Amino acid sequence: MSASYPVTIGLEVHCQLTSLKTKLFCSCPADYRGKPPNTHVCPVCLGLPGSLPVLNRKAVEYAVMAALALNCKLNRRCILVRKNYFYVDMAKNFQISMYEKAGGSPIGVDGYITINVDGQKKRIGIYRIQLEEDPARLVHMGPIDLSPYTLVDYNRSGIALLEIVTKPELHSPREARLFLQKLRSILEHLGIFDGSLEGSMRCDANISIQGGGRVEIKNISSFKEVERALNFEISRQTELVKKGLSVERETRHWDEARRITITLRAKEEEYDYRYFPEPDLLPVDLTDEFIESVKAKMPELPDARAERFIKQYGLPEYDAAVLTGDKALADFFEACVKNYPDAKKVSNWIMGDLLGVLHELDMDLNESKITPDLLVEMLKLIDQGVISGKIGKYLLPRMVKEGKRPSEIVAESGLTRLADRASLEELVEKVFRENPKAVKDALMDEKAIHFLIGQVMKATRGRADPQITNELVRSKLAELKSKQIHVEV
Ligand code: ZN
Ligand code: MN
Repeated sequence: MSASYPVTIGLEVHCQLTSLKTKLFCSCPADYRGKPPNTHVCPVCLGLPGSLPVLNRKAVEYAVMAALALNCKLNRRCILVRKNYFYVDMAKNFQISMYEKAGGSPIGVDGYITINVDGQKKRIGIYRIQLEEDPARLVHMGPIDLSPYTLVDYNRSGIALLEIVTKPELHSPREARLFLQKLRSILEHLGIFDGSLEGSMRCDANISIQGGGRVEIKNISSFKEVERALNFEISRQTELVKKGLSVERETRHWDEARRITITLRAKEEEYDYRYFPEPDLLPVDLTDEFIESVKAKMPELPDARAERFIKQYGLPEYDAAVLTGDKALADFFEACVKNYPDAKKVSNWIMGDLLGVLHELDMDLNESKITPDLLVEMLKLIDQGVISGKIGKYLLPRMVKEGKRPSEIVAESGLTRLADRASLEELVEKVFRENPKAVKDALMDEKAIHFLIGQVMKATRGRADPQITNELVRSKLAELKSKQIHVEV
């Protein structure tokens, strides 16, 4: 990577409150995904003249929960504002939002999230968290700059969003990803958000390298894409600065398919939005009573859960942080440990092997078919000596892809562990006969025996018991050695 210039990154994240049944200002259903376009609409979310918004109380509750979880100071009186702009994705020509100027105020300010960067805890400051409405979904035919036309689906218009703005305290694309993962885990623990839904977390990123202007990348569709988009932008900006060219202050679009950023427009200024208080909605006054009732409902959050994993299961801090960094993963872990108390073993299999397989298949745990039951069954098969650990690793991808029981795969494909000494001994003899050069090496150099063991494993497709194989290969070598000495004497 070309991070030769110091990098400064700030994020503006939009998360849908996916647990809400209805939109932010009307009673249209909020589950718009996969529905026929423009069917979840009404005069309010279509912005028809004369329609009046009514604020969703549950959305305020969720936003307060989120603000508390992100360590923000709550504003006791929140005034909604109009952010004016002209674009097809907002039929009213303004978005109802919160804002800290023009008489408005966001629900929470001045918070932080702690992320774990290579074992170091780092606090990332949060400017503000606010509630606002989602614009309609625009569908382009192919790349945005080449699309001959644009389709608009107002089903998404008016969905409740949290906007979360960080301070420019992130210094690498990886830190940005870690921040978003942690944010996702916190919101998922609160039960107000499901990050596995397409487009539920979208991100704009401000990025500058020393000596260049600040560039905003718009509409990065998922947190997986954030790291890619930022890495691209760092290379692009670094190239410009190296050539002595200036990095223009502008807004760029991340093209996921082509994996490049492209110029959208020169950056608009805040005053272009002509913010003013929304005349159709009353200020939101958060009473002590309301805040206390929300506090009483706050569930266990990732940091507290990590502490508990360390105490309750004796996990190292690193394991606890990785597992609780993803709610689905932490839930999976705890469900396994219920039926298989060796917590460290479970954690090793999840963090090493399972995450590896998911990464290879580019899958979320939620999308995969493996269940805690299946993993526990596999661990028990290994403990009972029915299969080797190596076969376990081999079974995992099929459990993830097909949700098949490990015992079934084993029975079907005859993958049980080979522990029969006599037949393994025969196999060792054969491997020795066929690999005289390797035997000679192994007689001189202890380390070379792994090749011979590997050949036995290969011949049995990993079914040979590693311990017994190891013993047999070693004793065979010792036998040869003693003969050799005997001959030479
Ligand atoms: Zn509506
Ligand atoms: Mn926004």
